[in-house]
Amino acid sequence: MKYSTAFRSRYNDNTDRFSKGHIARLASLLTSVLIVLTSISLAFTGLVASREADRQAIFNQKFLLGIALKNTFALMARDQLSLARWDKSVLKISQNIDRDFITDEFIDSLWFDFGLDYNWIIGPTNTVLVESFEDNVQFNTRKLLPTEPLYQVVEKARNSFFKYRTIVESGYNKGRIANTESEPDVAHGYILLDDHVVMLSAMAIVPDDGAYSLPEGNPVVLLSALQLGPKLISDLNNQLSFSDLQFLRLQPSLPEHSLHQVHSITGEQLGFFSWNSTMPGQQIWHTVIPVIILLGILLSVVAFAIARKIGNLTISLAASEEHNFYLAMHDNLSGLANRLQFNRALETAVQNQTDTPFTLIQCDLDRFKQVNDTLGHAAGDTVIKTVADRLMQVVGLAGLVARIGGDEFAILLVDCVDHSRLKDCTSRIITDIRLPIEIENGEHAQIGISLGIAFGPANGTTVETIMAAADAALYQAKDMGRNRAIFAQNCPNIVNQKNMAPINDYTER
Ligand code: GH3
Ligand code: MG
Repeated sequence: MKYSTAFRSRYNDNTDRFSKGHIARLASLLTSVLIVLTSISLAFTGLVASREADRQAIFNQKFLLGIALKNTFALMARDQLSLARWDKSVLKISQNIDRDFITDEFIDSLWFDFGLDYNWIIGPTNTVLVESFEDNVQFNTRKLLPTEPLYQVVEKARNSFFKYRTIVESGYNKGRIANTESEPDVAHGYILLDDHVVMLSAMAIVPDDGAYSLPEGNPVVLLSALQLGPKLISDLNNQLSFSDLQFLRLQPSLPEHSLHQVHSITGEQLGFFSWNSTMPGQQIWHTVIPVIILLGILLSVVAFAIARKIGNLTISLAASEEHNFYLAMHDNLSGLANRLQFNRALETAVQNQTDTPFTLIQCDLDRFKQVNDTLGHAAGDTVIKTVADRLMQVVGLAGLVARIGGDEFAILLVDCVDHSRLKDCTSRIITDIRLPIEIENGEHAQIGISLGIAFGPANGTTVETIMAAADAALYQAKDMGRNRAIFAQNCPNIVNQKNMAPINDYTER
C-alpha cells in the first residue's frame, strides 16, 4: 500500500468536494432558479396588474357611458320641460288644440332647437293628439293601444304626476321643477320604434306657477324620443373619447370590445353599446418586460460575481483545510508522517493482519544527544532531517516512514514479512544512516541507528503488544551496543508463518 498516495487522495477528495467548479455550478444553478423565479413573479405581478388595470378601465368606461346616457335623458327632460311647463302650452294644447301653436312653436322647438326626432302629445283618454317625426306633424291620428310600448311610458308619466302633483287654487299643478332625469315625475327609458331603438322621455304638460291649474283627471302627456342613430353616437363618442362606439341590435363577437346592454322599459333586450376598449394593461407590459430583462441581467451579473467569490473562498478554505490536515498528520521538522498518522496506519494494519501480515520497525538514533551537545541543536535538526530523507530513500513507497518522537522513527511495511528482504532493508538503513551528514557550517556529523523489528500478527495481535515487541527488540539492540537491528523474540507463531525464518538475533556491523 502506498501511504503517501492514500493520504494524498484524501486531500484530493476534500478539494474535489469543495472544488471551485462544483460550488460555482451550484451557485449558478441556484441563481438561475432565483432569476427564473423572480422573472416568473414579476411576470405574474405584471399579468395580475394588467388584468386588474384592464378590468378597472372597462369598469370606468362602462360607468362613464352610463353617466353620459343618464345625462342625455336629463338633457331631453330639460328641453321638454321648457315647453311642457308653460301656461301657454296648457292653454293651447291641454285646453284647446291650437294646431298653429303646436306646429310652429311647440314641435318646431322640440325638433329644430333640441333635435328630438319623435314627439307625441297624448290626451287624457289616450288619444294621440299630435304625432311628429322631425318636422312632419300629424293631428288626431289614432288611439294609443295598451300593447304599444309608448303606452307604458305614458302611464308612468301620469302616475308620477299623480304621485307628486300639488294642490293649487282650483286644481293641480306640478310638484317640483323636473330639471333632471332623476326628477320623479319624468318617465324615461328605451323602446323599439319602427325597428329602431330610441331614448324616450315623457312628462305631463303643466302650467307655470301662477294663475293656471289642471283639473282632476289624466293630464296631457308630452313624449319625445331620440334615435340611437349616428348623431347621438357621435356625440357620445366625442364626450367620452371612446374609440369606435356603436349601437348594435345583435351582440357583436369582438373580443377587444366592451359591451353595455340596453333593455326596454318592459325589460326586453334591445341591443348593445359596443366600443373598442383602451386596455392600459398593455402599457404595463411595456414597463414590466424591460424591468424583467434588466433585473435578469443585473441578477446574473451579481450572481456571477457572488459565484466567483464563493468559488475562490471555497478554494482557499479547501487549501487551508488541506494544509491543516497535513500539519495534523505530519511532523513539522522532517516532513514525515507523525505519530498520529502512524498510529492510524498501524491500527488499520492490525485490523487486516489475518489476511495481510505486516512488519513494524521501531528506530532510535544512537547517542543523538551528543550531536546536540557538541554541534548544537540546529545541527541536531539537520541530522533528523537527513535521517528522515535517507529512511524515505530506502523504504520509498513500499511502506510508511514516520517520526514518532525526538530521535525516534517507525516504519510500517505491510505484506512484507520476509526475513531476508528485511535483513537487506535494515542493513541498508543502518549503512546509509551511518554516512556522514553535512552540517551548515561545513562540519560533518555521524550518527548510528538501532532498529527493533516485530511482525504482526506473529509478535502480537494488538497495536500495544506489537509495539511492545518492537520496542523490546529496539532496547535489546541498544543494550547489545547499538547500531544494529534485532528481530522480536519469543514469538510462539513465528515457526508457522509462511516466508518467515525462526526468530534469530540479527546484528549488522
Ligand atoms: P540513545 O543512544 O540511548 O538513544 O541516546 P541518545 O543520546 O540518542 O538519547 P535519547 O534518544 O534518549 O534522546 C534523544 C534526544 O534527542 C533528546 C533530545 O535532546 C533530542 N531531541 C529531541 N527532539 C529533538 C529535536 O527536535 N531536535 C534536536 N536537535 N534534538 C532533539
Ligand atoms: Mg536516541
